[in-house]
Amino acid sequence: MEKLKYLPILMYHNVIDKKLTQVWNNFCIEKVQFEKQMAFLLKKGYTCLNFEDLENIIQERTECPKKPVIITLDDSYCETVNNVVPILVSKNMKCVFSVVTGYIGKKSSWEKEVDGSLTITEEQIKKYSGSLVSFESHTENHVHLTKHSVKEVERDLENSKKTLESITGRKVRAVFYPYGSYNANVKSFTAKAGYLYGLAIGSSKPTVTEDLFEMRRVYIKPGDSLFDFKRKISRWYIWFRGIREAYKRSRERK
Ligand SMILES: [Zn+2]
Repeated sequence: MEKLKYLPILMYHNVIDKKLTQVWNNFCIEKVQFEKQMAFLLKKGYTCLNFEDLENIIQERTECPKKPVIITLDDSYCETVNNVVPILVSKNMKCVFSVVTGYIGKKSSWEKEVDGSLTITEEQIKKYSGSLVSFESHTENHVHLTKHSVKEVERDLENSKKTLESITGRKVRAVFYPYGSYNANVKSFTAKAGYLYGLAIGSSKPTVTEDLFEMRRVYIKPGDSLFDFKRKISRWYIWFRGIREAYKRSRERK
């Protein structure tokens, strides 16, 4: 588990061509920028994992690679999937998309700046799901899980897992909390619904794998240079962020 402590889990949303799109905000990355970042990972010897690999490593069924990384893309927007999959497949790299199962093939309702981006269809999920591209849950309705009743949260988490598993025929292991919003209850409902991992954005835990239901992700932003990218995936940055957040939350409790 030592190497996994500093596991960078990269968080992306829209990977798009700036000239062709109406959406441009802090969740967008230019396709060329994304491609450069992927080439960098490859050149530096990183190995992309999915959540099945992670389970095998944690259960000590397989060795942890020297430099593990998980590439996650939230919301499974059509445009992003169409841009990202050919890049990663050509480099033989794995990635993980999160799917809002109540909005498959529909326009999103959660983007503030636009009236919604189209998400991929059931047929596309089936077509792409495989050893390189995997799909995990981003809940059924993309709501703040901390703001809903116990029943609603339980139902949402269970339905989403079931729907996605019936489409892909594969085990769904992770839920990506919408807006990175979770608390102790959400974490226990996530475990109860049969997930093995809960993906947050920030986390109060000092290391990434200390609590598998609040795994910290590295938010890659449009303004990030390759130097910023390199810094953000380094073990020192991940270690520093963990210590800083743990300190901040301990201050808040006082
Ligand atoms: Zn989302």
